[in-house]
Amino acid sequence: MSPKLTHVTHPLVQHKLSYLRDKDTPTVHFRKLVNEMTLLLTYEATKDFPLETVEIETPLERMDAPRISGKKVAVCPVLRAGVGMLDGTLSLISSARVGFIGLYRDEESLEAVEYYVKLPSDLADRDAIVLDPMLATGNSSVAAIGEVKKAGAQSVTLVCIVAAPEGIERVHTEYPDVHIVCAAIDRGLNEHGYIVPGLGDAGDRLYGTK
Ligand code: URA
Repeated sequence: MSPKLTHVTHPLVQHKLSYLRDKDTPTVHFRKLVNEMTLLLTYEATKDFPLETVEIETPLERMDAPRISGKKVAVCPVLRAGVGMLDGTLSLISSARVGFIGLYRDEESLEAVEYYVKLPSDLADRDAIVLDPMLATGNSSVAAIGEVKKAGAQSVTLVCIVAAPEGIERVHTEYPDVHIVCAAIDRGLNEHGYIVPGLGDAGDRLYGTK
């Protein structure tokens, strides 16, 4: 199986991303842009959802119309920055269940440290969409994907905003079946594990904590 990576180059996505990257974009706009970008990334992430034909009646006549066939989805944001992406996904998949994965990054080792996991009890019947805006070293995404897989998710898609080549490689080495959807593949990581050129600390910029 060749690992699946979708880099979304749609002009609206790239336009909004340029504002996310801009250090002068204020928190209130940053939050709105993350929401809008995630909606557009979710649109791409779901483009292979299977359809079935159902018979319906329009005000004029009967017809066979395509509908998404029995997909059940769990959206799993990685705390805290992934929560800023949640509404964007839910606005397209309103029936999804939501699971939360709490991880923080040990600033010395850059390893992901897990402090909270609450996933839907029927995750084994669902496809998981993991939301983690910055795919940097890949440590937090790999830990989050590991949790949803352990809980039995049928398939896993990782939606992020900016990805570093190191993170993509790490996720696909551990989990070649995971579909990664991102708006950008940046140059790499700096000595602190931040994506360059990146957009800074996504959590701080979303919540105005710095
Ligand atoms: N997390 C962030 O918020 N930004 C980075 O560049 C890397 C990890």
